[in-house]
Amino acid sequence: MPGPGRYTPDATEGITRVEDLPAPHIIERSRNYPRRVCPKCNHSAYRLRTATRTLHDLGNPISGRPRDLHVTYSQHRCPHCNHYFNADMLDLALPLSHYTHRVVATAVRIVVEDGLPYRSASWHLWRDHRVFVPFATIQNWVEAAGEKRSTASPARASGSRPGRLQRLHRRR
Ligand SMILES: [Zn+2]
Repeated sequence: MPGPGRYTPDATEGITRVEDLPAPHIIERSRNYPRRVCPKCNHSAYRLRTATRTLHDLGNPISGRPRDLHVTYSQHRCPHCNHYFNADMLDLALPLSHYTHRVVATAVRIVVEDGLPYRSASWHLWRDHRVFVPFATIQNWVEAAGEKRSTASPARASGSRPGRLQRLHRRR
């Protein structure tokens, strides 16, 4: 009978074919609106079309399955100033990112607080959180977070605009 502290290897250890890995759990999210306020001129802007975006989130450590958010969002055109923009998704992820804020925050924490090298952090994220992040991507996140922190003067750091690292931590 398995006792406490028994070593069990990761279930995906030795798997060489991608199709043998556990399939992601898909979660639908909507940021789809008929109208949005234009961020440039504050006029009402109608929906031009809808689009979708996949965001990798922290997976489920119980089932061992990754977790992907499928976000359906609206794209808008402002008739007043001709500005094109997407419905706001900043609560989920940064623009153009393939990962949620939670993944970025966890990755940065593993490196900054636990001191893991980037390659080990990448493996840790897969083993314990079921999300694949290339180590170079983690390095970019950590360096971006570090730059924000080191360039922030004490006056700015205590002001209303926190550094990226602080924001990431707060969003957990
Ligand atoms: Zn406008």
